Amino acid sequence: MKLEAFPLEFQGAMPILRKLQDAGYEAYYVGGSVRDILLNKPIHDVDIATSAFPAEVKELFPRTIDVGIDHGTVMVITKETTYEVTTFRTESTYQDYRRPDHVEFVRSLKEDLKRRDFTINALAVGIDGTVIDLFDGLADLRNKILRAVGNPYERFHEDALRMMRALRFVSHLGFTLEPDTFEAIQEYHSLLAKISVERINVEFVKLMMGSFREAGLHSFVESDCYIYCPGLRNYREGLLNFAKLRGPAIPTERQAWTLLMTLLDFDSAAIRHFMKEWKCSNQLIKEVIQMVPALQFRLENDWDNWTLYQLGRELALSVEYLLQYFEQKPNLEKVRLLYQFLPIYSLKDLAVKGNEVMENFDYPRGPWISTTLNRLEQAVVAGKLENNKRALLNFAEDFLKKEMP
Ligand code: ATP
Ligand code: MG
Repeated sequence: MKLEAFPLEFQGAMPILRKLQDAGYEAYYVGGSVRDILLNKPIHDVDIATSAFPAEVKELFPRTIDVGIDHGTVMVITKETTYEVTTFRTESTYQDYRRPDHVEFVRSLKEDLKRRDFTINALAVGIDGTVIDLFDGLADLRNKILRAVGNPYERFHEDALRMMRALRFVSHLGFTLEPDTFEAIQEYHSLLAKISVERINVEFVKLMMGSFREAGLHSFVESDCYIYCPGLRNYREGLLNFAKLRGPAIPTERQAWTLLMTLLDFDSAAIRHFMKEWKCSNQLIKEVIQMVPALQFRLENDWDNWTLYQLGRELALSVEYLLQYFEQKPNLEKVRLLYQFLPIYSLKDLAVKGNEVMENFDYPRGPWISTTLNRLEQAVVAGKLENNKRALLNFAEDFLKKEMP
């Protein structure tokens, strides 16, 4: 089979492949971009594989960076962009179910394709457009089947992360797991315990965000892989409820975690603990801890100024979008308008500052200052108080008369 037309991304990389070939080496487009082109999907990164060893690649191109030299990857810098060029390699003697003990550079494309995870990821394309298909990946692409290259038991035993990759490909592509491949995942699911949480996290997030989320999550549950992921062991039902949600692919990571936490019915403390176990960033945890209660609120109420103000524009829009997963219709434009017409956007916009409050009233420095500011902030945001100095100080005076002995 030959590619009819080269996508722009491949055309951009063409001079690199040509230069390698002119120097007597083999060079191919490989990996996810080949798969995605054949599926007519947009591609993100173009991977190039070559028979040239890393030192030979570096000799050919004036500007390179060693990004993963031990694994044979050299980044070639062109005027427009950068490309990862990786030497054909085999990976041998996996002793800990996760990383190869060492990689060996080889001159054979076949050896390189053999170590790849799934047949649909083991295709190569030459500069003339010829698709090299040594493991029947094209037939599997056509039939929408995800099949391990070689013996699935051996392949998952070598690197258990491949099981999570399989499930996320199900979720993204809507492919069916070939029966032996699925059985091997079921059999070896517990090996996931050997994989670093960071690597599982990447795949799990992609799994949650796929267009075929339901199928992906089902396979995740039915293969028992969830049991060996942080904090999920007791949440089979919750995961199946998550799988049942109707609606398009979840656009962002924070929305994915927010939906998961909502379906598992976690409170803030539980969310923090769970997401820490998943090694999520503090920023992400903070956002999800704000979004989950906001979503619960929004499912039962219209927005009010204070909730919108506290959440901020982006998170509020993010929450509003999630209504559709609960059979309610999001109105993003309305949220934009409501937000736009908030009287202030942060404490900085308040027409008096803390020191002014302090100077205007004759009390010793203390927590009353921030309590007062907070009251002013709430009253202004709610539209009950005008944001000008005189109105604010009058309000503060009344408030303090009542509050301070
Ligand atoms: P994506 O579209 O998400 O980038 P991808 O298939 O390109 O998917 P990458 O992680 O970018 O995934 O890997 C590029 C290629 O490297 C894969 O297509 C596959 O051929 C190979 N590969 C990646 N991870 C593994 C693994 N754990 N075991 C074997 N081969 C792998
Ligand atoms: Mg990729």
